[in-house]
Amino acid sequence: MKITVLGTRGSMAVSGTKYQEFGGGTSCYLIETDENAIYLDAGSGIMNSPTIEKKTISIFLTHPHLDHILGFPFFPMLGEKDRNIYLYSKGRNGLSSKEQVDYVFSGPAWPVQMENYPSNLIYKDLNEKDGVTLSDAKITWIEGNHPSGSLIFKIEIDGATLVYATDYEHSKESDQRLIIFAKDCDLLIYDGQYTLEEYPQKRGYGHSTKEHGIEIMNACGCKKLLFTHHDPFHSDGMLKLQETKLQGKCENIRFARAGEIIVI
Ligand SMILES: [Zn+2]
Ligand SMILES: [Zn+2]
Repeated sequence: MKITVLGTRGSMAVSGTKYQEFGGGTSCYLIETDENAIYLDAGSGIMNSPTIEKKTISIFLTHPHLDHILGFPFFPMLGEKDRNIYLYSKGRNGLSSKEQVDYVFSGPAWPVQMENYPSNLIYKDLNEKDGVTLSDAKITWIEGNHPSGSLIFKIEIDGATLVYATDYEHSKESDQRLIIFAKDCDLLIYDGQYTLEEYPQKRGYGHSTKEHGIEIMNACGCKKLLFTHHDPFHSDGMLKLQETKLQGKCENIRFARAGEIIVI
């Protein structure tokens, strides 16, 4: 499975010299197979997507918070006439996937309706309990723990398994669900937004710590752990320092860097 990290930042996009190594664009990961280009979230990182030829394009939204949908109007393939783009999202607050996108990108807050772009946008509501199969890829999900809800996705391709658990705040009940869902996965991408020192002031905001991610990794037996949703106030220097410290205690962990390609 080929995974391209397009956006690693959480909550708000950032730019400047302090954000060169880990990136400033918000949540987006691209998974490619021979037949599919599957995007997890459409944060501002999606603007850096490579051009996709002759593959089915599907975007799976964990939830429609701004940092996960911000880049959608700038998705390069939206400008291609006759291109089908499938957007999958779960109904939230009584809004279908189309209504969630239109709620954000319509007047007076936004100048162009999504349906006015040249490509064909096809919205899919994630109501199926059995998941979605896209030829060579299977996608399943569970509900995480986040204000207004956020899905945790599992993608299975050719015997490799990726679990994407961003915008997830640990709790006894949700951890049990996640540990079962992510059991023995090859890669767990986990929301490690806060430091242990920051977390008590941020409790209830819907994000976790890296230390808790390591506990989840050990409990579910996943092979590699990648931290994502970097806090917008955490500079390269701070993240690098934290990463080195945690790698000293636990092998097979890494902080996501925009632009890197991971093969599992
Ligand atoms: Zn987020
Ligand atoms: Zn969120």
